[in-house]
Amino acid sequence: VSTTVGIDIGGTKLLAVVLDADGVIVREQLAPSPIEFDAVVAAIAQEINALVDTTGAGAAGLGIAGMVDRNGVVAYAPNMPGLRRAPVRAAVEERITVPLAVDNDANVAALGEARYGSAAGRRDVLLVTLGTGIGGGLVLDGDLYRGAHGYAGEIGHFMVDIDGPLCACGARGHWEAIASGSALDRMTREVVASGGGHAILDAAGGDPSAVTGEHAGLAARAGDAAALDVIARLGDGVALGLAGLCNILDPEAVVISGGLIELGDLLMGPVRERFAHHLEATAFRPAIEVEAARLGARAGAVGAAVMARELL
Ligand SMILES: [Zn+2]
Repeated sequence: VSTTVGIDIGGTKLLAVVLDADGVIVREQLAPSPIEFDAVVAAIAQEINALVDTTGAGAAGLGIAGMVDRNGVVAYAPNMPGLRRAPVRAAVEERITVPLAVDNDANVAALGEARYGSAAGRRDVLLVTLGTGIGGGLVLDGDLYRGAHGYAGEIGHFMVDIDGPLCACGARGHWEAIASGSALDRMTREVVASGGGHAILDAAGGDPSAVTGEHAGLAARAGDAAALDVIARLGDGVALGLAGLCNILDPEAVVISGGLIELGDLLMGPVRERFAHHLEATAFRPAIEVEAARLGARAGAVGAAVMARELL
């Protein structure tokens, strides 16, 4: 049986798919996600058992928004405080009848996009998830790169500016602090606080304390210069980190996923232009494509199901 179950679990929801041998999603289920260890384990096991019973799937894969070691132990999950040094794989396997592989959600999303998404068929792919924070996954020479302990790909905490803004992790100048959704929130509020960005403030209903990056997106779509400038500066921040990573890794393609891709070309235009500017020797090397993710919110679940095939 080459049909497998893939599950992607974050702080709020659990998405489960069943993927056949051709990469077609034959079943899909969305459920709320608990955050305490016992409840998380029970919810995952219940989904896997139900999908194995109805489809005959032979293995399951799980992507979790956290740092996952090579034994399927979640060391730390920022949105699920009940998971600290939590032996998720062992606990779920006690309750199911198929083997289970567990990895970080961005890692499995990279695998999904590299097999069936916008980087299908490419062997060296960098996936960057631009959400509230920045996650990442590396597919190198055709396989997911996990690192010695399983923690590779934590690219959001790569330092790009020693004097830069504070990161959610408490350090200063990490890429996530200048290129994520929370960075866009901060930059947008700074523009409004400095007395500019009237269209941004209007989009927020006139309340400065309600301003977020989404209001910059709305005002930018309407052509507001201050909003376009904020998003262009965010794009430069994204491009700066991408160029540093691509100087190290030399991938065939970069895939950008996460909530910020809803900005479309407003963001991707500046990212591509500034990426070419920051990358080493751009004029003397093959172009590295920077593409928006095609699988969208399903990338992690599809990738988890791809990862499960290794167990068959
Ligand atoms: Zn950080």
